[in-house]
Amino acid sequence: MMAACQKNEMTTDAKFDAFKEALIADLLQIDPTWASTLGNHKYDNRLTVPNDDYRKLLLSFANDKLKGLADFKKAELSVPNRTDYAVLENQMKWLLWAHAQLKEHEWNPASYNVGQGFADIIHGTHDTLENRLKSVSERLKSVPEFYRTAKRQIKNPTIEHTDLAISQNKGAVDVFGKDFEGLVQKSTLVDDAKKTLLERTQTAKAAIQDYVSWLERDMKPQLTPQTARSFRLGKDLYFKKFEFQIVARSSAEEIYHKALQHKAKLTSEMIKITKELWPKYFKDEPYPAEDLKAVRAMIDKVSEKHVKPGEFQSAIEKQIPELESFVRKNDLLYLDPEKPLVVRVEPAYMQGVAGASITAPGPYDAKANTYYNVGPLTNYSAAEAESYLREYNHYVLQILNIHEAIPGHYAQLVYSNKSPSLVKAIFGNDAMVEGWAVYAERMMLEEGYGGHEPEMWLMYNKWNLRVTTNTILDYSVHVLNLTETEAMKLLVDEAFQQEQEARNKWRRATLTQVQLTSYFTGFSEIYDLREELKTKLGEKFKIKSFHEEFLSYGSAPVKYIRELMI
Ligand code: ZN
Ligand code: ZN
Repeated sequence: MMAACQKNEMTTDAKFDAFKEALIADLLQIDPTWASTLGNHKYDNRLTVPNDDYRKLLLSFANDKLKGLADFKKAELSVPNRTDYAVLENQMKWLLWAHAQLKEHEWNPASYNVGQGFADIIHGTHDTLENRLKSVSERLKSVPEFYRTAKRQIKNPTIEHTDLAISQNKGAVDVFGKDFEGLVQKSTLVDDAKKTLLERTQTAKAAIQDYVSWLERDMKPQLTPQTARSFRLGKDLYFKKFEFQIVARSSAEEIYHKALQHKAKLTSEMIKITKELWPKYFKDEPYPAEDLKAVRAMIDKVSEKHVKPGEFQSAIEKQIPELESFVRKNDLLYLDPEKPLVVRVEPAYMQGVAGASITAPGPYDAKANTYYNVGPLTNYSAAEAESYLREYNHYVLQILNIHEAIPGHYAQLVYSNKSPSLVKAIFGNDAMVEGWAVYAERMMLEEGYGGHEPEMWLMYNKWNLRVTTNTILDYSVHVLNLTETEAMKLLVDEAFQQEQEARNKWRRATLTQVQLTSYFTGFSEIYDLREELKTKLGEKFKIKSFHEEFLSYGSAPVKYIRELMI
């Protein structure tokens, strides 16, 4: 009986494995740009034109696959396959909902941008320069049609996304600038092929520029705050998007209330530290009547310790090996010494939303470089640069590096790419990914990184208050109609942010929806899971094993990983 039963299970799982493989193969073909970002370069020579037929194709694909999924009995699948099932089901339902209900293609002109896709191929290491340029040359042919379609799809854009599309598509032109022409000349392509490639490049650049001027001249003047679509998503779309994208155990509203509570806790801890530190930094000055004023003054004082503008990048480069050695010495997580991390200035086509980010190779291209993109300070005035450097002061810069690099995003993505589940490696869950990086910050400090300095904890609490406030801000902007003035008060007065940082955050909240909640949601779910397992395992709990097992499942939603670990 046992043998027969196991054999039956094998068959269902084997069938499901084949189903997963086919689904992914189909989707890679439907979406070549997505394939390319995953490190699958089979379709690099094609650019999808996002027209109505394409959307019809996507919708029927998702419906087909949902029918296919329904043929499997979940209970007959292995535990890892059951979570793959849940990930795929969520993903297919998201596709349907995003294209039929959310309809970002109608209101977000920034969703049309060929820059990143081309840059990935041009700067990739997956093939010879000549082969990459051949793909680029073929792919360039569709760029004019791509932007003609974009113009037809856009119905009632928001003012904010129109501005973003203008600046980002201007950046996309830079992908085909002098450096690119140098690469073409340097290549061993025959002269005719070079000539054709450069001609197609000119045509493509003209198409991008035409799109930009269409947005600037035809679209922008029609858009007024009274008549244009609001950047606020509204309660119904927001709650749905939260469900699909975050996949948490709690609802958007529950997480919002949890964040409010956590904010109160962090604030009282900061007040406590400020009272302790007050005599050290302010000697004879009396402690202010209002606690929040005292905390602000203390943060400003401690923030004065920061690097010079020209040393920002080298300070980051220097810190990476120090973080690695702390993680090794304290037995927190195995780090693969084979994977290089390259710190670089953020390329122009990526600039506009975040200040620092990780670009990691996809699961099909696990040997490629991982980049730590640092936003350049070149566009900042002296006062803006000072404000930015105070925000990323001596203490916060270390926490940022934990978050972005070690043992945060960089370490997590190396594990994710080794995950035996391709489904979880490629349909990464943002809340798990961001939650892990935020969890890593607290974990490192708890384990003694920074030597339990009160200044480090003060800055950590302030930093963690930032992600907590991200959740409050995002929910309040999109569901509760928070105004810009109210948002600035929340960010500057209650979360102690610098003016520039707060303005950038407001802008980001107007350009994205739900994404800002992923940090706090993922963090609190991972932290809760660890504490739950600690209680359950008692003496047997080992933090290194917890981290390695948690990361081994790939970038799946925390609630699915929890099911696997408990
Ligand atoms: Zn300064
Ligand atoms: Zn992050």
